[in-house]
Amino acid sequence: MFLCSILLTALFTGCITEEQTSKSNAIAEIIQPEIKLDTPSILPDWKDGEYHNYYTTTKMLNGFNDKYPDLVNVFSIGKSVLGKDIWCIRITNEKNNTIKSSCLIDGCIHGYEWEGGEACLYLAEYLLINFDDNKTIAHLLNSSDVYIVPLVNPDGRQDDSRYNNNGIDLGRNFDIDFGRIRGTSIPLGKLFGRIKIPSIPSNYGEFTLLHKWFPSFPPFLYNCGRHPFSEPETQAMRDFMKELENNDFSFYVNCHTAMHCIGAPWSAFKPPFKESKQEQYIFDYVEEWVVENTEYEKYDSNLFYKASGSSSDWCFKEFHIPTFMFEILSLYYNSLPPKHDHLVHWMETTLPVFMYLLVNIDNLRE
Ligand SMILES: [Zn+2]
Repeated sequence: MFLCSILLTALFTGCITEEQTSKSNAIAEIIQPEIKLDTPSILPDWKDGEYHNYYTTTKMLNGFNDKYPDLVNVFSIGKSVLGKDIWCIRITNEKNNTIKSSCLIDGCIHGYEWEGGEACLYLAEYLLINFDDNKTIAHLLNSSDVYIVPLVNPDGRQDDSRYNNNGIDLGRNFDIDFGRIRGTSIPLGKLFGRIKIPSIPSNYGEFTLLHKWFPSFPPFLYNCGRHPFSEPETQAMRDFMKELENNDFSFYVNCHTAMHCIGAPWSAFKPPFKESKQEQYIFDYVEEWVVENTEYEKYDSNLFYKASGSSSDWCFKEFHIPTFMFEILSLYYNSLPPKHDHLVHWMETTLPVFMYLLVNIDNLRE
């Protein structure tokens, strides 16, 4: 795996380069830049089984801040229903004051999908421990602000639940195609303002009529809240992304568990926005790179499931920047609740995906 990381460091150096063209309909060519070898990167020294809940995540982020004061800024972007901070860590070379691109990677919007949050922490540590000796990462942190929110849903992570403390699926609560039954959403909120209704099974094996008539009907309908952005956690993410818009916001990755794939918009039904040919081309290009160079697959909404109200679709609609939903772990881990093991293996498989996007941050923005 160490050798693997050396090779990957070499592969990361560039890939998507667009040529600006005066003809708006023409799709810009993607040029393969020359590849330069860099100093080998090192991987964080993690151990299997050592997962980070809300409190150990908080401790870890503050530890990064103490150890790398010139690279790290930790701050809260808002509070959960139960008042826990939604932490964000910004990683950049603070001594370099040039205008920088920014990007956002988050995890654990579904609280029981631990690996999404772990991948955020692992990436943060990887960038920090390699800044001094690896030129690719030094260049990256000299020219970009990398924002990472490991736990979008801190209450859900602490309770090992998909939902926030109001019983709402935060990954269906964004203002995009909101509350569609065929997008596995049902807009209930809390019954009488009190009773939590987290999800409704709609397809138990072959017993329900729904399943008999519509075999592709989703197995669960998730409570997406009574209206978009009804929850403090999604409000915090929305407001934070709007702030990044003024800071050359270049791409967004929303990490989940466990479908083993990467997906670009649009994952539900008829998109309520137009995707230009250039945008489609970039999404296809990134997805193909991931399929060819990592073990992750391309998300197929016909094979898996459809989701309305997702943060990645909303972010694309709102800012028209590349956004991705990244499902970590193997498909076979998709028991409910997801089981967790081989932490280090799964963390190592996520790095190539993140690093590929990060070294291409300027190309993605343009
Ligand atoms: Zn999820």
